[in-house]
Amino acid sequence: MSRVIQWLAELIELPSVNPAFAEPGDPVAGEQRVAAYVQDRARAAGLETELQPVTEDRANVLVRMRPPGRVRHRVVFAPHMDTVSVTSADQLRARRKGDRLTGRGACDTKASLAAMLWVLVEAARHGRYPRQTEVILAALVDEEYGQAGSRRLARDRLRVDLAIVGEPTRLRVVTAHKGSLWLRLVAEGRAAHGATPWMGRNAITALMRAILVLESEYVPGLGEHRHPLLGPPTLSVGRVGGGRQPNVVPEEAWAEMDRRLVPGENALRVLREIRSLLRRHALPVRVEPLTKATCPPLETDPSHPWVRMFLEILQQREPAGAHYFCDAAILSAGGMPAVVFGPGDVAQAHTRDEWVSVRQVERACAQLGRWLERLP
Ligand SMILES: [Zn+2]
Repeated sequence: MSRVIQWLAELIELPSVNPAFAEPGDPVAGEQRVAAYVQDRARAAGLETELQPVTEDRANVLVRMRPPGRVRHRVVFAPHMDTVSVTSADQLRARRKGDRLTGRGACDTKASLAAMLWVLVEAARHGRYPRQTEVILAALVDEEYGQAGSRRLARDRLRVDLAIVGEPTRLRVVTAHKGSLWLRLVAEGRAAHGATPWMGRNAITALMRAILVLESEYVPGLGEHRHPLLGPPTLSVGRVGGGRQPNVVPEEAWAEMDRRLVPGENALRVLREIRSLLRRHALPVRVEPLTKATCPPLETDPSHPWVRMFLEILQQREPAGAHYFCDAAILSAGGMPAVVFGPGDVAQAHTRDEWVSVRQVERACAQLGRWLERLP
């Protein structure tokens, strides 16, 4: 096993479940073990490290590779350290079979973290520092939930030429991804005895009508906003509930929806569109944003010189798009041109037997290494 794959296996075996997906006090929760690992490896190679507090007990790790002279450019590697939940103990064991390394976080996104850390440490060990470019590895907390880590990093308004966010892209440079807006629809009715429904107003049927209106009159129009790399925006209803018991006309019913946005759309305008459509149908339904899991879309200009240089090194003609959202949009909104790049396929992320291709991880190291060598 090559050293970087050994590191990846060790990272998989350090649990870092996002605390939002664990019970309080659960020993697998939190990024601190991975953070300590990153710091140890970096320090051993003579790199400066620093904890950037995000909440009371969670912190991003910043590893800095400073050029010998003045800093004229800056690039950031930004993988996250947290994972989704573990449902069995064997997910915390790294298992190798042929080209596959299996375990929680293997692909999302400890493979990117291992590769990015590895190339920095290798370059430092061999004294291959860029002359004018500061390279920062920002290992972030909380990507899988509220993205508090990238929000904290973006707040510093650091001048950055390019941020490479580590997520599984099958080693493609991704310059655009969709944003996400979660919505809650609440229908209001009037309770009555189930034997005399005409005395009440049924919130469930009002809600059903609202959902059907959205499906038949709103969703088809989304095609007009089609994005060349991402396709059209989408709307999907994910949860519904309401009512108390069969013989009571329900006075409240609710639904939760996931609206994915393409670049150029914004959450406020989307809310307004949906509200005005439901109003036109005189439906007694309120629409509210659910604050969690709201992320703007990402669109970074592929002709940006540092993006072009990265595409060239990867010998990739056209940039790619991704359907999932990630920290890249948050960093980009904070003024850093950002792309997404990393080994692994998102089809394996969050699955029970999450795995990553060992060969892809090694190729990622070679590609990122070549990128470092090209930096001024
Ligand atoms: Zn991820």
